[in-house]
Amino acid sequence: MRKKFIIGGNWKMQILNVEEAVSIATELATTISGILTETVDVFIAPSFNALYSVGQAIKGTKLKLAGQNMYFRDKGAFTGEISPDSLLDAGCEYVILGHSERRRIFGESDAVINQKVKKALEKGLKPVLCIGETAKEKEEGHTETVLRTQIDESMADIPREQLNLITIAYEPVWAINNKFLNPNSEIKTATPEEAEKNHIFIRKLLINKFGDEGKNILIQYGGSMKASNCEGLLNIGEINGGLIGGASLSAEKLKPIIEAA
Ligand code: PEP
Repeated sequence: MRKKFIIGGNWKMQILNVEEAVSIATELATTISGILTETVDVFIAPSFNALYSVGQAIKGTKLKLAGQNMYFRDKGAFTGEISPDSLLDAGCEYVILGHSERRRIFGESDAVINQKVKKALEKGLKPVLCIGETAKEKEEGHTETVLRTQIDESMADIPREQLNLITIAYEPVWAINNKFLNPNSEIKTATPEEAEKNHIFIRKLLINKFGDEGKNILIQYGGSMKASNCEGLLNIGEINGGLIGGASLSAEKLKPIIEAA
């Protein structure tokens, strides 16, 4: 059986107007229509202001829509938050949860992320759960402890029958392009060997926690994936695709990654 891939474009706060978002999404939907095989899923996560329009523009195409975040309540006095029902109304199938920028800049804990994962599943959204160690945690030798804690706590009490709806995005924080926060930072990507080691470890954690069901959970790699390095990463057995920031901001940049999958 051919390996499954999921390629996700996380547009973060980079595409600021609706017209541009719709134009990129439309081009991407056209680009992938001829190249996408049954075993590859592709989603994009635009800013909230553009979600509905992008959803309308890509309706009926193979390109899927994702939210970049979501609150864990249905409705109410939660200024600045977005509800799962609003994501569904805009046409989302996926929602990115626990991205390292949400964890680090907005202080999201594993307990909060766990509530979001459970709420997304309850509502019929597919969570893309991000985990990964920081540079400091890596240097101090804590990578495995960090990954274990993030999996244990953010995946607590998940109904077994819904595990197949979750995708894990392993994103070593030191490999994510964060030039905006640290203009002088050097952009690093995990070598295929480093990525493979940690993906194998994550797979073991999932199997220990969920038994056989843990074998089928897709694990994306994220962190400066682009045309020039995607093949080496996507060829690794335990890597089921990528969560991509910078290289997802145009159809031209994302196409080679989708082709490699
Ligand atoms: C991300 O933030 O999910 C990401 C992987 O970003 P980039 O590809 O720009 O490093």
